[in-house]
Amino acid sequence: MGQASRTTKLLLDLSERTRGGVNTSKRAYLEETAKVLDAARAFYLAFFLAHPDKLTERVRYFSEKHQEERERLISPNELLTWAESLTVVTAAHPHPLPSYTFSEQFPEFPFIYRRSVIKDALGKARSYLSNLANWNTRGKKKGQPGSPGASNHPTLYDEAFCLDLDATDLRTGPHTCFARLKVYTGTQWQWYNYPVELSRYFEARWRDPAWETQSPKLIVRKKSAALHFPQVKHVEAKRVKESKEDPHLVTVAIDLNVKNLAVITVRRDGNTIETVFVKDHGLDQHRYGHLKRIAKKQWQSGKPVAGEHSNQQIWGHVRRMNEDASHKVARAIVTVCTRYPGCVLLFERLRKIQAKGSSKSRRMNRKQANQLRGKINQHTKDKAYASCSTVTVEVNPHGTSQYCSHCGARGERFSYRGGKRIREKWGKLFACPTCQYEANADFNASVNIHHSFYRQWHWQQRLKLPPRTG
Ligand SMILES: [Zn+2]
Repeated sequence: MGQASRTTKLLLDLSERTRGGVNTSKRAYLEETAKVLDAARAFYLAFFLAHPDKLTERVRYFSEKHQEERERLISPNELLTWAESLTVVTAAHPHPLPSYTFSEQFPEFPFIYRRSVIKDALGKARSYLSNLANWNTRGKKKGQPGSPGASNHPTLYDEAFCLDLDATDLRTGPHTCFARLKVYTGTQWQWYNYPVELSRYFEARWRDPAWETQSPKLIVRKKSAALHFPQVKHVEAKRVKESKEDPHLVTVAIDLNVKNLAVITVRRDGNTIETVFVKDHGLDQHRYGHLKRIAKKQWQSGKPVAGEHSNQQIWGHVRRMNEDASHKVARAIVTVCTRYPGCVLLFERLRKIQAKGSSKSRRMNRKQANQLRGKINQHTKDKAYASCSTVTVEVNPHGTSQYCSHCGARGERFSYRGGKRIREKWGKLFACPTCQYEANADFNASVNIHHSFYRQWHWQQRLKLPPRTG
């Protein structure tokens, strides 16, 4: 049993007010809110880093189960209470630490936001201190962990946020719905209504009973603002070990490539029962064209011009293309998986396709292709687990493109150029000299992923040699 997670995004409407958006001062409040929360987080980060011993304090407690006194690490909630008692003036603690009076520096700070930043700061301080400790024990000179930054996207808990969709009807117009947020105006904290760009997509995901929605994060960017709702779902999935005992187990293997973005092969009882090629529809060429332009500009100006406006647009375009393609491929793979309930999804452990030699634009394009493979892998895993409880296994990728998927012998790759058969490393086709089998090279690799999963032929588990003595 496990948990799947996803994020559902809701854009705040920051368009002109005449078109139904929010007025400019309300927009500024979002930035003010993020700013003051960052400052508050920085305050507590400094506070925790000034008391590193407290974070690792052991507390004694009585274990009912073992009927004895035991020791454990101090809990985040205990640390929160402790931090509040030293920094906030209350009736119980009228005199907090003089140098750390939070309530003096941040008057009227809402209680719920304070707890949220304390928890954030605590997490940051703990991870920084443990990184630092690891670095110290390794005794290296380089790579000292830098002190943690305090900025973060704030989490909006119930007392600072409210979204009521039940009263709205999508048919009556797009702007009948608001998110109520408690924001900082620069002088005080207040509740304001922000129009949201409601869509059917959001509605469907928000109302989906299978998913539990958690407190959203407020993401404020230069030109947009959004609420990101984390959602979680409980998934009942078989362990791979149990699945492997099924003699008729269906395995779905994915070979990720550049032109064939994914080659999906489905096997049962040692036979391939379905094959799907997901092509890139010219994505690689398209992307290469854009990157060539960027590389040319950089070469002409003699320095990277990544910050330049036009290049930012191109990079944004390339990023969106990749993101879009990765989701589409992932969906195609998951569609195949849903046809075979109880199947196991197989990926190769991703290795980098080397981005060396050739031109700068080619290297950049190769890098993008690698990132795309990583994205497809991640999105597919998440979607398959969430939508059909399919578990993913990463198998040993060694030699999947060099060995024959028919007989296991070492083969060669070739292409046809002008009617002639030419042996080449990146040939589109695969040929086996032992059994004369010929196939598309990516298809052959995809089938080999199944063999790697079952540890057949080249991928047999090798017996480890006994350790040498003496
Ligand atoms: Zn063969």
